[in-house]
Amino acid sequence: MCLICDRIEMIKNGTNPYFVKELKTGYVVVGDNQHFYGYTLFLYKNHDHTELFQLDMEERTLFMQEMSVVAEAAARAFKPDKMNYELLGMGDAHLHWHLYPRRNGDIGDYGNHGRGPVWWYPMEKMYSDESRPDEASLEDMKNKLLKELDALTI
Ligand SMILES: [Zn+2]
Repeated sequence: MCLICDRIEMIKNGTNPYFVKELKTGYVVVGDNQHFYGYTLFLYKNHDHTELFQLDMEERTLFMQEMSVVAEAAARAFKPDKMNYELLGMGDAHLHWHLYPRRNGDIGDYGNHGRGPVWWYPMEKMYSDESRPDEASLEDMKNKLLKELDALTI
């Protein structure tokens, strides 16, 4: 079973505490771990393709447009210095965007003297329990993101 499909099933059942909003091609969720404050994911609705280029051009364009709107909403909600975008899928081969609000200094001295992609920050720190949002801050983040998404997608 696919982890992303599991999370989407939870959204459909109303049991995914990270769910923010459904768009035409995917679901917006806040990340489980928030070392990078405002970390947001955009999960493609279907498991049937694993590469962007496998989608027909109309669907591909819509998925890309919606992803960029989600990134804009996250930038407005969480006010980073810069957004980072990742579409990976070696672990979970289900199209999903990782949208990271980045701030100067957010990887400490790791990487190239504190500069570089999120994956230069140690995984055990990034995914530690200390970087999990508590219930109140999770609600706050979801509300902020939803407000901006609603303003951009209506
Ligand atoms: Zn899947």
